[in-house]
Amino acid sequence: MTITREDCLALDARDPLAGLRGRFALPDNVIYLDGNSLGALPRHVPSRMRTVVEDEWGAGLIRSWNDAGWIEAAHRTAEKIARLIGAGVDEVIVADSTSVNLFKLLVAAMRLRAGRDLLLTSIGNFPTDAYIAQGAADLLGAELRFVEPDMSSVVAALGSRVAVLAMTHVDYRTGRILSMHEITAAAHAAGALMLWDLSHSAGALEVDLDDASVDLAVGCGYKYLNGGPGAPAYAYVARRLIDQVRQPLSGWFGHAEPFAFAADYVSAPGIDRMQCGTPPMLSLAALESALEVFDDVSVAALRAKSMALSDLFIRLADETLEGLGVTVESPRDASLRGSQVSLKHVDGYAIVQALIANGVIGDFRAPDILRFGLTPLYVRFVDVFDAVHAIGSVIRRGEWNQPRFLWRKTVT
Ligand SMILES: *Cc1c(COP(=O)(O)O)cnc(C)c1O
Repeated sequence: MTITREDCLALDARDPLAGLRGRFALPDNVIYLDGNSLGALPRHVPSRMRTVVEDEWGAGLIRSWNDAGWIEAAHRTAEKIARLIGAGVDEVIVADSTSVNLFKLLVAAMRLRAGRDLLLTSIGNFPTDAYIAQGAADLLGAELRFVEPDMSSVVAALGSRVAVLAMTHVDYRTGRILSMHEITAAAHAAGALMLWDLSHSAGALEVDLDDASVDLAVGCGYKYLNGGPGAPAYAYVARRLIDQVRQPLSGWFGHAEPFAFAADYVSAPGIDRMQCGTPPMLSLAALESALEVFDDVSVAALRAKSMALSDLFIRLADETLEGLGVTVESPRDASLRGSQVSLKHVDGYAIVQALIANGVIGDFRAPDILRFGLTPLYVRFVDVFDAVHAIGSVIRRGEWNQPRFLWRKTVT
C-alpha cells in the first residue's frame, strides 16, 4: 500500500515529540533537512543573546566573567552534553573547534603510548579528521595509516605499533553507524587507545562512552546540538586517563592556576587541562542556551523518532523515485543508520540546488551524494513526504538542468 500525505499527517498527530518543533524558529515554506550540518535556531536563544550582549557585555563589561558566570559556562555546557553522550560531568569540556580538539587528543594519545608510532584512522573519514591526523603524525614523526571502517579490516590493521585508532561514529556521507563497543574493544585488545568523533551522533542517537570504555572523543556543537554557526566543540577524556593526559596546546585556560600568572605551565587537574585559551563567550552562550531544548527529552525517544523518519524516507524513495537514477546509499537497516538518508545521483549537486530553490534544504557531498538530515527535534513526517515528492518532481521535470543550479557555490 502506498503511503499518502494523510498517513504522514496522522503520524505527526501521534508523535510524542511533535511539540518540540515549536521551540525552533524555522522559516515558513522551508523543509529543513540539513540540521546535521547546521542545526536550527531555538526560539529562546535570541533573547538570551540579547542579554549576553547588551547586559552582560555592554553593562557588565569585564565583571561578567565572575558576576554573570561566564567563567563557568564551559563547564555548565559540558554538563549538558555529558548526559547526551553517556559521560561523566568530569570527563567533558567545551572548547575550541572539533578540528582543534582532535589535534589535542591525537597528540595526547600518541604521548600516552610513547613506544608506538602508528596512528590509524578510517578511509573516508571526514576530511578534517584525516587532515588533522596527517598534521599530528607529521609533527610527531609518526606514521598515519588508513583502514576500511569494518571490523575485520580494523582488527587486521591493529597491532603492537598502533598508538591510537581514530574513527567517526556515524559516517557523514552514508550515515552508517559503526559499532562503538566492538571497535573500541578491538583497539584495547591490541593495546591501542580509541578516539571517536561524535559529530554526527550526539543529540540524535544514543552514545554511551563510559559503557563502551572509550578513551577519547570529540564532537561538534553546531549540528544536532544546534549551537549556531561555528559553535564551540567538546572533548571527552575517560576519567581513568585524565590525569595522565598531556595535550600540546598548553594555553593558560588549561593551567592549574590561570590567574596566578605563573612563569611555567602546570596543567590543571582534571578535564580543565583540555582547555587552551579564552572561550568565545558569545558562541558559548548560544550553545549553552540552545542545549536547554534537550533538558526534558530522552535520547531514546529522539532515536526512535529519527529511525521512524528515515525508514519513512527510504520507503517513499523506493515507492516514488524508481527509474530516476537514484539509489539509496544509507544502510537499509535502521539500527545501522544515523539520523540521515543519503541518496546517490550523478547530477546530485544540481538536484540539491534545485530542491533548495523549491524550499527543500538538504546538502550535497562530493562526488554524488544528496544528503538529507532528519533532526528528530523538529522534522515532521509530512516534511519527509513533501521532500521525497519534491525530489521526484525536480528530477522528472529536469528542473535541475539549468545553469543557475549547475554552477558550484563555495559551500555545498
Ligand atoms: C562537522 C564535522 C567536523 C567539523 O569540524 P570543525 O572543526 O568544526 O570544522 C569534524 N569532524 C566530523 C566527523 C564532522 O562531521
